Amino acid sequence: MDQDIANIHHDNGQLRTVSFQDGSSIAIDVLYADPIFKEHTSLPSSIGCKLTDKKRISITPDQQTSILGVYACGDCTSLMRSIAAAVASGNLTGP
Ligand SMILES: Cc1cc2nc3c(=O)[nH]c(=O)nc-3n(C[C@H](O)[C@H](O)[C@H](O)COP(=O)(O)OP(=O)(O)OC[C@H]3O[C@@H](n4cnc5c(N)ncnc54)[C@H](O)[C@@H]3O)c2cc1C
Repeated sequence: MDQDIANIHHDNGQLRTVSFQDGSSIAIDVLYADPIFKEHTSLPSSIGCKLTDKKRISITPDQQTSILGVYACGDCTSLMRSIAAAVASGNLTGP
């Protein structure tokens, strides 16, 4: 949904409809948020690493950033935020 939400309606916690600022509404069963992440450090962008549109460090399949020889792994590179995903990406990192 790209429209501005006005209200979320429910019956005893069961989602029913979302209404929008423009007056329209849709029936829903579930709702997922797509939050905008912000890193605690600006180090990657300060050294010139390209970021994705979701503000993750942009990487190749072997975890290289846009700077030759600089690699990144874990949460800063992925929307799949879990220890398993972070460890797995660490295993893939490097030449
Ligand atoms: C509240 C919460 C609950 C979670 N529960 C689970 C769970 O149950 N199971 C699960 O699998 N995952 C869980 N996660 C996600 C999991 O913690 C992360 O996916 C995982 O820790 C990512 O590891 P990482 O090494 O990429 O990043 P991090 O563990 O965040 O490590 C990054 C490190 O870099 C350091 N750092 C940052 N900036 C700088 C800087 N400028 N200089 C030096 N150091 C810096 C930070 O202090 C930190 O120690 C949870 C996360 C949160 C926030």
